[in-house]
Amino acid sequence: MSRFWSPVVQTLTPYVPGEQPQMQRLVKLNTNESPYGPSPKALEAIRNQTNDDLRLYPDPEGAALKQAIATLHGLSPQQVFLGNGSDEVLAHVFAGLLKQSKPVHFPDITYSFYPVYCKLFGIEYKTVPLGTDFEIHTGDYNTPNGGIIFPNPNAPTGRSIARSEIEKLLANNTDSVVVIDEAYVDYGTESCIPLLRGNSCPENLLVVHTLSKSRALAGLRVGFAVGHPALIEGLERVKNSFNSYPLGRLAQAGAIAAIEDQAHLENTSAKVSNTRSKLVAQLNTLGFDTLPSTANFIFTRHPKYAGAKLYQALRERGIIVRHFKSPRIEEFLRITIGTDEQSGELVAALKEILS
Ligand SMILES: *Cc1c(COP(=O)(O)O)cnc(C)c1O
Repeated sequence: MSRFWSPVVQTLTPYVPGEQPQMQRLVKLNTNESPYGPSPKALEAIRNQTNDDLRLYPDPEGAALKQAIATLHGLSPQQVFLGNGSDEVLAHVFAGLLKQSKPVHFPDITYSFYPVYCKLFGIEYKTVPLGTDFEIHTGDYNTPNGGIIFPNPNAPTGRSIARSEIEKLLANNTDSVVVIDEAYVDYGTESCIPLLRGNSCPENLLVVHTLSKSRALAGLRVGFAVGHPALIEGLERVKNSFNSYPLGRLAQAGAIAAIEDQAHLENTSAKVSNTRSKLVAQLNTLGFDTLPSTANFIFTRHPKYAGAKLYQALRERGIIVRHFKSPRIEEFLRITIGTDEQSGELVAALKEILS
């Protein structure tokens, strides 16, 4: 604490990301990174861009990357907004679209960065409780709001809802923006992006993606939002009032190559989904109760062992998972899906702990 902190800084409760331990030989299953490397084409593009051109500023608009994203998703480049990780995109979304006279609505259990942005920007919010099985009921959002945001699949539960549910939400919320954070969409969830194609693009739907999870580029920091060109223009106004060059030359080059390598994405995401099914079955045999997941992580609890205890016991065995000390979810562990080998080590450690 310093007397030089501004009043708002004194009130902040910053987001705490999962730890990045420096210890070697850890089974790191705590921050939903991909266990597989990024596309080799992305690495090559980054290497090729590592030259004297780095003395020059990057393209502030990221036009080539916007075009690559637009081409992949059947959109126009005017429907694409870029950011330094989707966390930065989300920050601009909160500041530029969700700060309204009515409170923004999001689930009581969701990505814990949302309330942090609200505090920073002075945005009122209301949390909407998930159902008893931690599911999102879109019907619960039909009350006056200044915007709605949630991940699909939701984090940290891993549960997803159908695109048709989000269409209902849009039909019932024509006067506020609906933001769907699709950070984990590539592991078996229906994306809402098809709704944005062509002339029927809703004026109030924004979909946020990241290259940090399924494209295995968390270290590069690239995220994007797609939506109606007027929403994107609003976000550009915020971005150009904050930082004109959020994406460096290396990030733009690597991201273009990663976006164009859809085969690598499909291949690695399928491996993760396959490992997930096997892990859920093995945990089931050990007595765990796991929520149905379409993400690259699972949310699971054991009826006889407290979440905090299991977290600690795994840690002592060199396996790092995530535990949240929050109401309703204290008994759960959020476990990132790693390789089959890492899954095997996890199951072996749990067997030992439970015996
Ligand atoms: C990981 C994650 C993000 C942020 O990803 P970036 O690395 O900042 O692109 C955003 N939303 C959710 C729900 C996430 O889990």
